[in-house]
Amino acid sequence: MRIVLLGAPGSGKGTQGKKLAEQYGIPQISTGDLLRAAVAAETPLGKRARVAMDAGQLVSDDVVVGLIRERLNEADTANGFILDGFPRNIVQAEALDVMLNEIGKPLQAALHIDVDFDILMKRLTGRRTCESCGQMYNIDTSPPKAEGRCDKCGGRLVQRADDNEETISKRLKVYESQTMPLIAYYRDQGKLHTVKGVGDIDDIYTSIAAELEGVQ
Ligand code: AMP
Repeated sequence: MRIVLLGAPGSGKGTQGKKLAEQYGIPQISTGDLLRAAVAAETPLGKRARVAMDAGQLVSDDVVVGLIRERLNEADTANGFILDGFPRNIVQAEALDVMLNEIGKPLQAALHIDVDFDILMKRLTGRRTCESCGQMYNIDTSPPKAEGRCDKCGGRLVQRADDNEETISKRLKVYESQTMPLIAYYRDQGKLHTVKGVGDIDDIYTSIAAELEGVQ
């Protein structure tokens, strides 16, 4: 399955993408994760990306399109992929369409995880991630059993540098102005599927699985 996940920061794309990746046995590719790895490794690309990321703005289209192009060339994408956080604007969506049409493997679905904006702020300020295995928690709604430690692997839980109130509001504004138009873009292509992203994580996943049944 070749699919993109659409949704505001905090809508659950990462969490639900992980589940889809497990079910379908295909990689979840997150441009945010790829960029954070480049920032941590202090590569030239990472150093450039950091400024935009810390400001809650989008990294330049050339950089992220280049990252995705390289990643989609890897062998593990042969049976499909889940794109999480890419595309973020129309230019990127068009570049992706061109890339996939060139290899005769067009996108099959865009899954929009819909969450009201007032819920997103709370989710994002409480969000914590295990620095070892990437498991996500929320200190308000789904806390770990032991404070600051991952239930799965015991790793340290950390807060993303851009999960502070000021940067979060900027990221939500960027989503509204640049990414939301993709909903109409994929609707026009007949590829849009929408689920409500509120409630229990497993229940949301059940709606996603039902919505994607038949997409092959
Ligand atoms: P995310 O983890 O998806 O919330 O992304 C974190 C940050 O990485 C975003 O706020 C952007 O600065 C940058 N980023 C991630 N994906 C993209 C993309 N497709 N285009 C531009 N910037 C991106």
